[in-house]
Amino acid sequence: MSAVTQSSEELIEAVPKQLLIGGAWRDADGGRTLEVENPASGETLCAVADADPGDAMAALDAAVDAQAAWAASAPRERGELLRRAWELMQERGEQLARLATLEMGKPLAEARQEVAYAADFLRWFGEEAVRVHGRYSSAPDGRGRLLTLKRPVGPCLLITPWNFPLAMGTRKLAPAVAAGCTMVLKPARQTPLCTLALARLMEEAGLPPGVLNVVVSSSSGATMGPLIADPRLRKLSFTGSTEIGRALLAQAAPNVLRASMELGGNAPFVVFEDADLDAAVEGALVAKMRNGGEACTAANRFLVHASLADDFAQRLAARMGALRVGPGTDDGVDVGPLIDGVQRDKVHELVTDALERGAQALTGGEPLERAGYFYRPTVLHAVPDDARLLREEIFGPVAPITTFERDADAIAAANATEYGLVAYVYTRDLARALRAIEGLETGMVGVNRGLVSNAAAPFGGVKHSGIGREGGAEGIDEYLETAYAAIEL
Ligand code: NAP
Repeated sequence: MSAVTQSSEELIEAVPKQLLIGGAWRDADGGRTLEVENPASGETLCAVADADPGDAMAALDAAVDAQAAWAASAPRERGELLRRAWELMQERGEQLARLATLEMGKPLAEARQEVAYAADFLRWFGEEAVRVHGRYSSAPDGRGRLLTLKRPVGPCLLITPWNFPLAMGTRKLAPAVAAGCTMVLKPARQTPLCTLALARLMEEAGLPPGVLNVVVSSSSGATMGPLIADPRLRKLSFTGSTEIGRALLAQAAPNVLRASMELGGNAPFVVFEDADLDAAVEGALVAKMRNGGEACTAANRFLVHASLADDFAQRLAARMGALRVGPGTDDGVDVGPLIDGVQRDKVHELVTDALERGAQALTGGEPLERAGYFYRPTVLHAVPDDARLLREEIFGPVAPITTFERDADAIAAANATEYGLVAYVYTRDLARALRAIEGLETGMVGVNRGLVSNAAAPFGGVKHSGIGREGGAEGIDEYLETAYAAIEL
């Protein structure tokens, strides 16, 4: 049946609802389930198996059992498997996009973009699988040889968030597959369906049993704890909040577990006085409103040169105010619901705090009175320095604007946060752009563009935004160990 004619019920019906362990789809121990909700309506979409620590350990057992054979498989075989998975994702793109919209809320057009982005990691790492190289060299004193080699790190635990349920999955599993690692993948409880559909797709692409195991749980901490403490696990890759990332790093310490952390952000969006204002407003819309603001890369603070600030604020407010908010499945909708009531209330709390401290709402400023978790796209002008939303991750459709006079002050303000994921700068002056790139304490900078994500580029942050990189030539290294042999001749 084509994706266009399939009803939402049929679409969900086709997704496995069980745990994937050692190549078998099975119920959770005791038959427990958890409900998946549609954030556009608050209604339950379906129930899926809800793992406990015993299920998680069974998943790790399966990953450990499969590790040696998988590490010994040919890189070309792993690359071609990922390519087949990419092809399947092209064929199944519409189903996956609709699934992401149903469980996560994003508008269908954005879900299609996520599918394309997610698929890119399969293709990219399929290509990288055959480009893992070592080195052979003379020792500096000429008395021996140095042989450097790369090998898979071993069984991994991959933990993903709800905001990009497909792309955060492929961004981790594709390099792990390419490197020859086996894995346990745990999606967020709000969005397990995309991951389960992805796991089915990987099976169909030919992934051997036990290489990818999927565990969904309503008690992540209790369920993942014993697995992280098990010395057979060799790697933890996490995408999510800085708070949970910090706790997981502490849990990873006793076994000196390799860790990659893609954590929260507080991205500054700097508009210098020579910026092309039309381009800056367009870029601001992308940097702020991609995924309804629920992106780690979302512009969280707009720092605009004082000479442009009023004009920029008015234009951005006109654009944001004209966006259509509604269920992501409806035609013409630009902004879907937030993921849940907790997130919507947090966004409103931050907006209320800013307004009470003197910020001015040019548009929005409140939730929508309807079922689901909708919030009006909001532009706040003249936001005072002590407003909480300048320091905290908003994760919603809210753009706070502050001003600056001197470039150095803008860079200092941009860096005045514990986060360091991404920054955006708008300028027509190359030297000014380069000074900003070098001065900004972030892992990524968007120059005259509001989007940096690209499977071919090293995505990641500094400071409290994380450790390690995903994507690019660097992405596969996170799943490889470097070893070396000293050879006497
Ligand atoms: P979160 O609450 O930290 O959860 C992320 C994942 O960790 C979920 O799968 C969650 O499962 C799981 N988890 C929570 N507590 C855990 C524990 N004690 N042990 C093991 N796993 C645990 O984050 P979120 O709300 O899903 O996502 C939003 C955050 O992710 C934002 O801060 C955003 O900036 C960040 N993010 C970062 C990037 C990046 O690349 N830097 C990309 C996307 C998102 P349950 O929810 O089911 O408990």
